[in-house]
Amino acid sequence: MLVQVRQTLLAEALTGDEDKRMTSEKTAAPDSEEHGHEPHAEGLNSRLNWLRAGVLGANDGIVSTAGIVVGVAAATAERGPVFTAGIAGLAAGAVSMALGEYVSVSTQRDTESAMLAKEKWELKHQPDAELAELADIYESKGMSSETAERAATEMTEKDAFAAHAEAELGIDPDDLSNPWQAAFSSAVSFTLGALLPLIAILVPPPSWRIPVAVIAVLVALALTGALGAYLGKSSPWRPTARMLIGGSIAMAVTYGIGSLVGTAVG
Ligand SMILES: [Zn+2]
Repeated sequence: MLVQVRQTLLAEALTGDEDKRMTSEKTAAPDSEEHGHEPHAEGLNSRLNWLRAGVLGANDGIVSTAGIVVGVAAATAERGPVFTAGIAGLAAGAVSMALGEYVSVSTQRDTESAMLAKEKWELKHQPDAELAELADIYESKGMSSETAERAATEMTEKDAFAAHAEAELGIDPDDLSNPWQAAFSSAVSFTLGALLPLIAILVPPPSWRIPVAVIAVLVALALTGALGAYLGKSSPWRPTARMLIGGSIAMAVTYGIGSLVGTAVG
């Protein structure tokens, strides 16, 4: 479920105005270009969506890796297996997230390209009908029919394709979603989240490591839950409580399984 929410957010962010800047810097991390950009409503929104997508990705990393390391730590007092399992879980999770994001955004991009190609064909083969259609759209947005007709004519003379893409499809043709960028950023946010439980369980002495990891994870989930709610402009209590309960269940279940398997095998 988290993944789905994140992908929607990411898709929104990717089709936003902000992406124009980002596609020209394909290899740059999403957070690395803070400067030199004057804030405006759309850009800000898009950046908030990026941030929310990042927070949710980090949550995935925290919960799944916490489950793995707590489970293995319940089965063995050794550090090596916990470290190995945690790193393997981190890598598998990051790759799986990136893959899911890549597929999802690629599909979205294919759909957008197909719609744009159809629009281009229509503009070439039935320009009059398209002009009338554009005027209708403007009229439905609240213009008088005269204004709408004039606006449609002017926009068609300027750049018919861009005008139709924007008004009909809500797409900027020069600014399609970038699947590689989505894949990269989700892998990074998952990895950052996953490092927290991994470090929290490896650093303390054996008798302390599970309590320390559990507390660190719950504190981190409370923070990311509240931050996610804040960025999404919703009340923090419910999402934070859900994160805490979900994270607790994940760790309790794997702790139980780890204890049972540890006793049976060891
Ligand atoms: Zn059209």
